[in-house]
Amino acid sequence: MHESMHKKQPQNLEQIVSLAKRRGFIYQSSEIYGGISGMWDYGPYGMTLKENIKRLWWSRFVEQREDMYGLDAAVIMHPKVWEASGHVEGFADPLVECQKCKRQFRADQTDEVCSECGGKLGNAEPFNMMFATHVGARADSSSLAYLRPETAQGIFVNFKNIIDSFHPKLPFGIAQMGKAFRNEIAPRDFLFRAREFEQMEAEYFVRPENWEERFTLWRETMEKFLHDDLGLARDRVHALEVPERDRAHYSRRTIDFEFDYPFGAKELCGLAYRTDYDLTRHAALSGADLTFLDQDSGKRLIPHVIEPSFGVDRLVLAVLTSAYREDEMDGERRVYLALSPEVAPIRAAVFPLLKNKPELVARAREIYRVLRKDIPRVAFDDNGNIGKRYRRQDEIGTPWCVTVDFDTLADDTVTIRDRDTGTQERTAVGEIRRRL
Ligand code: ATP
Repeated sequence: MHESMHKKQPQNLEQIVSLAKRRGFIYQSSEIYGGISGMWDYGPYGMTLKENIKRLWWSRFVEQREDMYGLDAAVIMHPKVWEASGHVEGFADPLVECQKCKRQFRADQTDEVCSECGGKLGNAEPFNMMFATHVGARADSSSLAYLRPETAQGIFVNFKNIIDSFHPKLPFGIAQMGKAFRNEIAPRDFLFRAREFEQMEAEYFVRPENWEERFTLWRETMEKFLHDDLGLARDRVHALEVPERDRAHYSRRTIDFEFDYPFGAKELCGLAYRTDYDLTRHAALSGADLTFLDQDSGKRLIPHVIEPSFGVDRLVLAVLTSAYREDEMDGERRVYLALSPEVAPIRAAVFPLLKNKPELVARAREIYRVLRKDIPRVAFDDNGNIGKRYRRQDEIGTPWCVTVDFDTLADDTVTIRDRDTGTQERTAVGEIRRRL
């Protein structure tokens, strides 16, 4: 019997890291060379899970709305972008070095003595987290450029292009998903603090007097995405009003959404009111006219900005953490991922009961071919015995397994097994599509 009372949440991060590796979700980057700190590779199921999260975000934040424009800007931009944004001057964490073992730490995350060898720590020095590179053959200060540390600035520097091409009315927004790079002093906690990661950000341009109303609406949109689209447990996400002393200097209001990760409640995503700071700075440094002609009032203004900002990898980790379960089924300990059908890498798996019976395999393949025409992410699995296949699909988080057995050949019915309860129901082949 299935004992739902015994469902358990993960006790530590290791369980999730190990499942992610074992089942082909996430691998350490360059593992055969010993790995490289702060970098992760997504395997077949991980990349599908991540794509599903991004697709749901794009759908809710761009495609289902009339006031949003999509963008895919270059990772390397003109270095002046990062002067205007304040990153060249201020995107730094305080770095301290142990005088004995030379290990480096973030000064705000460590004590007075080295946590590794007990040595004395030196003075804190600011360390800029942008990855620098050179564009072109000459490697000097004239060719210095940076890998973007956030996607937001690609949006601000395309603000004029979008208004010239599309003539939107206020309020409207521009959204972008893509890689960002930060040379974090201490990457840690699996995907949570990486050096290469992905962001999904939107900059929403409003009349200054409307910022509060729009801020509230974006907050609701973010919450819907986290809970309704991604299925994150409501009691594991906490909205924190960030006090003035902890906010970026240009922000007049920020809410951080924290998630209860196995290593504590930590920032998952954020919503910030950035005033007209970015557009004003870019206008001043570039000389471009970044004012907006408000057709209703006939006045030119620099719009104010509301920014919902998400880290994709932190969402992947939150989704895995929220879905991880352990229970007992048929007298055995079982691990499964209670992923929603929309995010699960495989939505349904089709099996022949026995793989050495050609007539079962042929019928299962036929059903699989028909289903995959209409249903996204259907898989065929005849690897190992049926029990093993159920266990594997449970760990991948596949919501339904469709099994073709000898009754199928006689009466054209299959069993559909529910991942969470393990119960199986006989269903007519023609009805499968409606059930998944
Ligand atoms: P933190 O305080 O944790 O360093 P932050 O406040 O600097 O984060 P933002 O600059 O607001 O983060 O970036 C927006 C989003 O990008 C964050 O909410 C987070 O989801 C994601 N993010 C930031 N840094 C990292 C990182 N090193 N690894 C993975 N995701 C990150």
